[in-house]
Amino acid sequence: MTALATCPCNPEKTYQQCCQRYHNGTTPSTAPALMRARYSAYVLHNIAFIKNTSLPAQQAHLDTDAIAQWSQNSQWLGLEINQTSLAPDQRHATVEFIAHWQDAQGQHQHQESSLFIKLGTHWYFYDPNVPLRAERNAPCPCGSTLKFKKCCAPYF
Ligand SMILES: [Zn+2]
Ligand SMILES: [Zn+2]
Repeated sequence: MTALATCPCNPEKTYQQCCQRYHNGTTPSTAPALMRARYSAYVLHNIAFIKNTSLPAQQAHLDTDAIAQWSQNSQWLGLEINQTSLAPDQRHATVEFIAHWQDAQGQHQHQESSLFIKLGTHWYFYDPNVPLRAERNAPCPCGSTLKFKKCCAPYF
């Protein structure tokens, strides 16, 4: 494995001090830490990490070939996290970020507010490309044991 001087997500830290532990199996305890670890995983083409930290109910539907191709064909220039908000239930968090990258068409920046959901002790990324919906009184499709209306209905 290559030694990296700085972490892809933060030029002020080494990879060892920052995202490496998450890629080696430590669970990120906050949504922004997972956001950073996922960004670094894109940079390092660690598609298994991207898949495993997506909501389990969505994992089978992810287009991992497309994700791998995007990861390979982009030159990643940095991540800024602007704001994080944790819901009162402590199980939903939104992370506003800007990712910078470059491809054959030039430099791009992508601003997004991503939703993270905590199931048990793990935070997961909700991929808006794989929408989940349910009847209001049905079990929430996120995988929690709550009804949809009491769980993710305000977010999906
Ligand atoms: Zn990092
Ligand atoms: Zn839910």
